[in-house]
Amino acid sequence: MTLSLISPALTGGLIDRADQVRVDSDRLASYMNWKARLLTLNGLEPEVSIEGRLVWRSLADAAPDSELIFLGLLDDKAHFAELKCSEPGSSLQYNPRVWQMLASLPADELALYGGARTLVDWHARHRFCSLCGAASAMSKGGWARTCSSCAAEHYPRVDPVTIMLSEFKGKVLLGRQPRFPLRRFSALAGFVEPGEGVEEAVARELWEEAGIRVRNVRYVASQPWPFPSSLMIACTSEALSDELTLDTTEIEEAAWFSAAEVRAAMAGDETAPFIAPPPFAIAHDLLKHWLDAQ
Ligand SMILES: [Zn+2]
Repeated sequence: MTLSLISPALTGGLIDRADQVRVDSDRLASYMNWKARLLTLNGLEPEVSIEGRLVWRSLADAAPDSELIFLGLLDDKAHFAELKCSEPGSSLQYNPRVWQMLASLPADELALYGGARTLVDWHARHRFCSLCGAASAMSKGGWARTCSSCAAEHYPRVDPVTIMLSEFKGKVLLGRQPRFPLRRFSALAGFVEPGEGVEEAVARELWEEAGIRVRNVRYVASQPWPFPSSLMIACTSEALSDELTLDTTEIEEAAWFSAAEVRAAMAGDETAPFIAPPPFAIAHDLLKHWLDAQ
Protein backbone atom coordinates (compact mmCIF):
# COMPACT_ATOMS: atom_id res chain seq x y z
CA MET A 1 0.00 0.00 0.00
CA THR A 2 1.43 3.36 -0.99
CA LEU A 3 0.68 6.21 1.38
CA SER A 4 2.51 8.99 -0.42
CA LEU A 5 4.41 9.85 -3.59
CA ILE A 6 7.75 9.38 -1.90
CA SER A 7 8.81 7.07 0.92
CA PRO A 8 11.54 8.74 2.98
CA ALA A 9 13.99 6.71 5.07
CA LEU A 10 12.68 5.95 8.58
CA THR A 11 9.13 5.45 7.28
CA GLY A 12 7.62 2.16 6.13
CA GLY A 13 7.39 0.35 9.46
CA LEU A 14 5.47 -2.94 9.38
CA ILE A 15 4.87 -3.43 13.10
CA ASP A 16 1.32 -3.30 14.49
CA ARG A 17 1.57 -0.69 17.25
CA ALA A 18 -1.38 -2.44 18.95
CA ASP A 19 -2.64 0.49 20.99
CA GLN A 20 -5.32 -1.76 22.52
CA VAL A 21 -2.57 -3.90 24.08
CA ARG A 22 -0.62 -0.91 25.43
CA VAL A 23 -3.51 0.25 27.59
CA ASP A 24 -4.43 -3.23 28.92
CA SER A 25 -1.79 -4.34 31.41
CA ASP A 26 -3.14 -7.92 31.60
CA ARG A 27 -3.02 -8.36 27.83
CA LEU A 28 0.41 -6.78 27.71
CA ALA A 29 1.67 -9.17 30.40
CA SER A 30 0.32 -12.13 28.38
CA TYR A 31 2.57 -11.12 25.49
CA MET A 32 5.69 -11.10 27.71
CA ASN A 33 6.41 -14.74 26.93
CA TRP A 34 9.21 -16.84 25.49
CA LYS A 35 8.36 -15.68 21.97
CA ALA A 36 8.74 -11.99 22.81
CA ARG A 37 11.75 -10.18 21.33
CA LEU A 38 13.95 -7.55 22.94
CA LEU A 39 15.81 -5.04 20.77
CA THR A 40 19.56 -4.93 21.40
CA LEU A 41 20.73 -1.36 21.90
CA ASN A 42 24.09 -0.01 23.01
CA GLY A 43 22.94 3.18 24.64
CA LEU A 44 20.72 4.52 21.88
CA GLU A 45 22.56 2.88 19.01
CA PRO A 46 21.44 -0.45 17.61
CA GLU A 47 23.51 -3.57 17.32
CA VAL A 48 23.45 -4.54 13.63
CA SER A 49 24.24 -8.08 12.48
CA ILE A 50 26.69 -9.00 9.70
CA GLU A 51 23.59 -9.55 7.53
CA GLY A 52 22.57 -5.94 8.15
CA ARG A 53 19.61 -6.66 10.45
CA LEU A 54 18.62 -5.53 13.92
CA VAL A 55 19.65 -7.95 16.67
CA TRP A 56 16.95 -9.29 19.01
CA ARG A 57 17.21 -11.24 22.27
CA SER A 58 14.65 -12.76 24.62
CA LEU A 59 13.09 -10.91 27.57
CA ALA A 60 15.18 -13.11 29.88
CA ASP A 61 18.20 -11.12 28.68
CA ALA A 62 16.80 -7.80 29.96
CA ALA A 63 18.85 -6.11 32.69
CA PRO A 64 17.34 -6.64 36.18
CA ASP A 65 16.77 -2.91 36.76
CA SER A 66 15.40 -2.13 33.30
CA GLU A 67 11.86 -1.28 32.18
CA LEU A 68 10.29 -2.56 28.97
CA ILE A 69 8.77 -0.43 26.24
CA PHE A 70 6.20 -2.27 24.11
CA LEU A 71 6.95 -1.49 20.45
CA GLY A 72 4.10 -3.58 19.04
CA LEU A 73 3.26 -6.93 17.45
CA LEU A 74 4.96 -8.48 14.43
CA ASP A 75 4.53 -12.11 13.29
CA ASP A 76 2.42 -12.69 16.43
CA LYS A 77 5.40 -11.79 18.61
CA ALA A 78 5.57 -8.84 20.98
CA HIS A 79 8.59 -6.62 20.40
CA PHE A 80 10.14 -4.58 23.17
CA ALA A 81 12.91 -2.07 23.78
CA GLU A 82 14.64 -1.74 27.11
CA LEU A 83 15.02 1.38 29.23
CA LYS A 84 18.03 0.81 31.44
CA CYS A 85 17.76 2.85 34.62
CA SER A 86 21.53 3.13 34.85
CA GLU A 87 21.96 4.77 31.46
CA PRO A 88 21.36 8.49 31.15
CA GLY A 89 19.55 9.71 28.06
CA SER A 90 21.34 11.39 25.27
CA SER A 91 20.20 14.18 23.04
CA LEU A 92 22.83 13.06 20.55
CA GLN A 93 22.25 14.74 17.22
CA TYR A 94 22.52 13.08 13.85
CA ASN A 95 25.84 11.23 13.76
CA PRO A 96 27.35 10.04 10.43
CA ARG A 97 28.87 6.97 12.13
CA VAL A 98 25.44 5.82 13.31
CA TRP A 99 24.14 6.29 9.78
CA GLN A 100 26.79 4.09 8.23
CA MET A 101 25.50 1.34 10.49
CA LEU A 102 21.83 2.14 9.88
CA ALA A 103 22.19 2.31 6.09
CA SER A 104 22.34 -1.48 5.86
CA LEU A 105 18.99 -2.04 7.60
CA PRO A 106 15.82 -2.91 5.62
CA ALA A 107 13.40 0.06 5.52
CA ASP A 108 10.90 -1.45 7.98
CA GLU A 109 13.62 -2.26 10.54
CA LEU A 110 15.09 1.23 10.26
CA ALA A 111 11.61 2.68 10.91
CA LEU A 112 11.13 0.41 13.92
CA TYR A 113 14.52 1.38 15.34
CA GLY A 114 13.82 5.10 14.83
CA GLY A 115 10.63 4.93 16.89
CA ALA A 116 12.29 2.85 19.60
CA ARG A 117 15.22 5.25 19.80
CA THR A 118 12.98 8.29 20.25
CA LEU A 119 10.95 6.53 22.97
CA VAL A 120 13.95 5.25 24.95
CA ASP A 121 15.59 8.67 24.78
CA TRP A 122 12.39 10.46 25.82
CA HIS A 123 11.89 8.28 28.89
CA ALA A 124 15.50 8.71 29.94
CA ARG A 125 15.18 12.51 29.77
CA HIS A 126 11.71 12.85 31.29
CA ARG A 127 11.84 11.04 34.60
CA PHE A 128 10.13 13.84 36.55
CA CYS A 129 6.73 15.48 36.27
CA SER A 130 6.86 18.87 34.56
CA LEU A 131 3.87 20.07 36.64
CA CYS A 132 4.92 19.22 40.20
CA GLY A 133 8.48 17.90 39.97
CA ALA A 134 7.76 14.48 41.52
CA ALA A 135 9.11 11.29 39.96
CA SER A 136 7.00 9.87 37.13
CA ALA A 137 6.69 6.23 36.09
CA MET A 138 6.32 4.58 32.71
CA SER A 139 2.68 3.81 31.79
CA LYS A 140 0.66 2.59 28.77
CA GLY A 141 3.30 0.06 27.80
CA GLY A 142 5.93 2.77 27.53
CA TRP A 143 3.89 5.26 25.48
CA ALA A 144 3.29 7.61 28.40
CA ARG A 145 4.55 8.52 31.88
CA THR A 146 2.29 9.08 34.87
CA CYS A 147 3.24 11.29 37.83
CA SER A 148 3.50 9.46 41.15
CA SER A 149 2.21 12.51 43.04
CA CYS A 150 -0.31 14.51 40.98
CA ALA A 151 -1.23 11.71 38.50
CA ALA A 152 -0.62 13.94 35.47
CA GLU A 153 0.00 12.01 32.27
CA HIS A 154 2.87 12.97 29.98
CA TYR A 155 3.25 11.77 26.39
CA PRO A 156 6.34 11.38 24.20
CA ARG A 157 6.97 14.56 22.29
CA VAL A 158 7.25 14.96 18.54
CA ASP A 159 8.75 18.25 17.39
CA PRO A 160 7.55 19.44 13.97
CA VAL A 161 10.24 20.86 11.69
CA THR A 162 9.52 22.33 8.27
CA ILE A 163 12.04 21.63 5.52
CA MET A 164 11.40 23.42 2.29
CA LEU A 165 12.35 24.30 -1.22
CA SER A 166 11.47 27.60 -2.82
CA GLU A 167 11.41 28.03 -6.57
CA PHE A 168 11.91 31.17 -8.66
CA LYS A 169 11.93 31.09 -12.48
CA GLY A 170 12.97 27.43 -12.68
CA LYS A 171 15.68 27.65 -10.01
CA VAL A 172 15.55 26.30 -6.49
CA LEU A 173 16.90 27.79 -3.28
CA LEU A 174 19.37 25.73 -1.21
CA GLY A 175 21.54 26.72 1.72
CA ARG A 176 24.53 25.64 3.76
CA GLN A 177 24.69 25.42 7.54
CA PRO A 178 28.17 25.91 9.01
CA ARG A 179 28.11 22.32 10.40
CA PHE A 180 27.54 20.74 6.94
CA PRO A 181 30.35 18.83 5.21
CA LEU A 182 32.30 20.88 2.66
CA ARG A 183 30.26 21.90 -0.46
CA ARG A 184 27.05 20.29 0.89
CA PHE A 185 23.88 22.31 0.20
CA SER A 186 20.41 21.30 1.35
CA ALA A 187 16.86 22.55 1.80
CA LEU A 188 16.36 25.21 4.45
CA ALA A 189 14.66 24.01 7.62
CA GLY A 190 13.35 25.22 10.96
CA PHE A 191 11.09 24.28 13.87
CA VAL A 192 7.40 25.10 13.72
CA GLU A 193 6.70 27.62 16.50
CA PRO A 194 3.68 27.75 18.81
CA GLY A 195 0.77 29.57 17.21
CA GLU A 196 1.59 28.98 13.55
CA GLY A 197 0.56 26.51 10.87
CA VAL A 198 3.01 24.52 8.76
CA GLU A 199 2.58 26.87 5.78
CA GLU A 200 3.20 29.89 7.99
CA ALA A 201 6.33 28.30 9.46
CA VAL A 202 7.67 27.67 5.94
CA ALA A 203 7.04 31.30 4.97
CA ARG A 204 8.56 32.66 8.20
CA GLU A 205 11.70 30.51 8.00
CA LEU A 206 12.37 31.51 4.39
CA TRP A 207 11.89 35.17 5.33
CA GLU A 208 14.11 34.95 8.44
CA GLU A 209 16.90 32.86 6.95
CA ALA A 210 16.96 33.98 3.31
CA GLY A 211 14.94 37.23 3.21
CA ILE A 212 12.48 35.98 0.60
CA ARG A 213 8.67 36.14 0.58
CA VAL A 214 6.84 33.07 -0.74
CA ARG A 215 3.37 31.91 -1.80
CA ASN A 216 1.64 28.62 -2.64
CA VAL A 217 3.26 26.48 0.06
CA ARG A 218 2.58 22.83 -0.74
CA TYR A 219 3.04 19.82 1.54
CA VAL A 220 4.98 16.94 -0.07
CA ALA A 221 5.84 14.28 2.55
CA SER A 222 7.09 13.83 6.11
CA GLN A 223 9.81 11.87 7.89
CA PRO A 224 10.30 11.02 11.56
CA TRP A 225 13.84 12.01 12.54
CA PRO A 226 14.83 10.36 15.82
CA PHE A 227 17.71 12.70 16.76
CA PRO A 228 15.99 13.06 19.17
CA SER A 229 12.31 13.48 18.23
CA SER A 230 11.67 15.61 15.14
CA LEU A 231 9.05 15.19 12.45
CA MET A 232 10.43 16.65 9.23
CA ILE A 233 7.60 18.16 7.14
CA ALA A 234 8.77 18.65 3.57
CA CYS A 235 7.18 21.41 1.49
CA THR A 236 7.65 23.38 -1.70
CA SER A 237 6.88 27.05 -2.28
CA GLU A 238 7.13 29.80 -4.90
CA ALA A 239 9.39 32.77 -4.19
CA LEU A 240 8.23 36.27 -5.16
CA SER A 241 11.80 37.34 -5.97
CA ASP A 242 15.30 35.87 -6.00
CA GLU A 243 16.98 38.61 -3.97
CA LEU A 244 18.52 36.99 -0.88
CA THR A 245 19.29 38.52 2.53
CA LEU A 246 20.92 35.80 4.62
CA ASP A 247 20.77 35.31 8.37
CA THR A 248 24.38 34.21 8.69
CA THR A 249 23.88 32.91 12.24
CA GLU A 250 21.72 30.15 10.69
CA ILE A 251 23.17 29.62 7.22
CA GLU A 252 26.57 30.63 5.91
CA GLU A 253 25.66 30.52 2.23
CA ALA A 254 22.57 30.14 0.04
CA ALA A 255 22.10 30.13 -3.71
CA TRP A 256 19.63 29.41 -6.50
CA PHE A 257 20.37 26.29 -8.55
CA SER A 258 18.99 25.24 -11.94
CA ALA A 259 17.43 21.83 -12.58
CA ALA A 260 20.54 20.81 -14.55
CA GLU A 261 22.78 21.75 -11.61
CA VAL A 262 20.58 19.88 -9.13
CA ARG A 263 20.43 16.87 -11.45
CA ALA A 264 24.23 16.78 -11.67
CA ALA A 265 24.58 17.04 -7.88
CA MET A 266 22.00 14.30 -7.29
CA ALA A 267 23.90 12.07 -9.73
CA GLY A 268 27.11 12.62 -7.75
CA ASP A 269 28.74 14.36 -10.71
CA GLU A 270 32.11 15.80 -9.62
CA THR A 271 31.59 18.91 -11.75
CA ALA A 272 28.27 19.74 -10.03
CA PRO A 273 28.31 23.08 -8.16
CA PHE A 274 27.43 21.43 -4.84
CA ILE A 275 27.10 18.09 -3.05
CA ALA A 276 23.48 16.94 -2.66
CA PRO A 277 21.96 15.93 0.70
CA PRO A 278 22.40 12.19 1.43
CA PRO A 279 19.69 9.70 0.36
CA PHE A 280 18.42 9.07 3.91
CA ALA A 281 17.55 12.77 4.37
CA ILE A 282 14.10 13.90 3.24
CA ALA A 283 15.80 16.89 1.56
CA HIS A 284 17.12 14.36 -0.97
CA ASP A 285 13.58 13.07 -1.66
CA LEU A 286 12.31 16.63 -1.85
CA LEU A 287 14.90 17.59 -4.48
CA LYS A 288 14.10 14.45 -6.47
CA HIS A 289 10.39 15.34 -6.30
CA TRP A 290 11.20 18.86 -7.54
CA LEU A 291 13.33 17.52 -10.41
CA ASP A 292 10.59 15.09 -11.46
CA ALA A 293 8.18 18.02 -11.74
CA GLN A 294 10.50 20.02 -14.03
ZN1 LIG B 1 3.08 15.69 39.04
